[in-house]
Amino acid sequence: MAQTGRYVPAEREQAFLDTIENPKYDREITNGLKPFFEDKAPDDIKNFYSADELSILLRLKDTDRDVENRMPVKMTRHFFEMAQNSKPLQRIIKANPDETLNLQGSEDPGHQMDFAPVEGLLHKYEMGLLYVVSTCSAHCRFCYREELISQKEVERQDGTVAKKGLAKIKDVTDYVRAHNDVVTANGGIHPQTGREKLREVLLSGGDPMVLPNRKIGQWMAALAESGVEAIRLGTKEMSFHPKRFDEAFLTMLDNFHEAYPHVGFRIMIHFNHPDEFLLKAPDGSYQKNPNGSLKWHDDTRQAMDALVSRGWINIENQAPIIKGINDDPDALRVMQRALYRVGVGNHYFFCGRDIVAYRAFNVPIETAWNILNESQRGLSGVETHARLSITHYKGKTEVSAVTSEPIPGVPGTENGVLIFKILRNALDAPDRGKVCIVGRNPDAIWFDDYEDRVIFDEAGLFEYSRVDKEAVIVSQTAA
Ligand code: SF4
Repeated sequence: MAQTGRYVPAEREQAFLDTIENPKYDREITNGLKPFFEDKAPDDIKNFYSADELSILLRLKDTDRDVENRMPVKMTRHFFEMAQNSKPLQRIIKANPDETLNLQGSEDPGHQMDFAPVEGLLHKYEMGLLYVVSTCSAHCRFCYREELISQKEVERQDGTVAKKGLAKIKDVTDYVRAHNDVVTANGGIHPQTGREKLREVLLSGGDPMVLPNRKIGQWMAALAESGVEAIRLGTKEMSFHPKRFDEAFLTMLDNFHEAYPHVGFRIMIHFNHPDEFLLKAPDGSYQKNPNGSLKWHDDTRQAMDALVSRGWINIENQAPIIKGINDDPDALRVMQRALYRVGVGNHYFFCGRDIVAYRAFNVPIETAWNILNESQRGLSGVETHARLSITHYKGKTEVSAVTSEPIPGVPGTENGVLIFKILRNALDAPDRGKVCIVGRNPDAIWFDDYEDRVIFDEAGLFEYSRVDKEAVIVSQTAA
């Protein structure tokens, strides 16, 4: 159980914290639609929205279709400049009236709060995910943390309703230590929950890179001291403000690595589209280097090279496939190749989640599979590591295959089938590798669209219930 009191850094931790520099970063952020409505945006940014677009958005303001009530609007100058010549990038951050046409969806996609033993920490698999901040340098309209960023109230499993709170260092490290002590004392498995050691923690939010270096360093060192084996940092800052990865930040990472050489460090970046980092010619084609490779924006390339050159940092890209942004095999092919070329792994592409207004953003599951499959034609094996994942309440699930031919003698397969495979079970790992086969539904954008055509379901995707409330409480008590 979390104990009350102040978090006190260990000696080694304090010595590391004392080395951290905290420069200020001017991202030249334009916040909200108000500067556009009131003609107060910087001169060169004013025309980012047309007069027609603004008049529609203004009409919706303060109604139940107000787009800013759903998700605050925010952009950086760097992203604005990259978006000048790119419709997909504009769609990432530009408010669109279609967003509030259908507000169906969940305020807590995947019932994340069921996995929160202490505020701001989700404990899934052998991993912890931390909400360390509730904003980003800019806001993606399709964000699946919109309830955190918009500070909406979410229903918890015990029926109470409250905003999602941020993680606190003492509560989280107390929980990690206590959980891991119980696991160690019991031979590697938690006696009540069956979980293993909590060995990896993801700093998330929002985007941790909007925090000062000192705060990021505090989290990293405290987690390292608590015994986690690897730390991840999830960020879209490489796209929104790559200059954030400056000498002060890199030196902080180097000093952390020196103090904690056995703690792995992974940066999960988020590029949806190659226009976020490649330079374009006036005709819209990508600019090329003399050897035929594609030219990056200098700031992004410099930031990326600085991270990649530190061999102890793993860098992986993951992104959802979103309607009108990157539902384009050619763009995804260019992106996977260009990222791998500079040393960035292609981790997951995601089907959109069942967030509020998901129908405005999600492409059908089978379309997403076809897009990714098509994008990987012509790429080499090492460039095609990315899989298509859809996050079921039970855990991370791969969309493994979509077929077009009937299976002789098997009813329901007349138009082919789709095969889901469980990659990771949110509580522990017993269902990994189990599959679910459903008859095809080209319009399906969420699991419930397959409910009437399940053919085989050893994975239990269509027979699940929420996590046993007792199991979570026992876990908290035992820890
Ligand atoms: S960067 Fe990530 S968390 Fe931030 S708005 Fe975009 S999708 Fe959401």
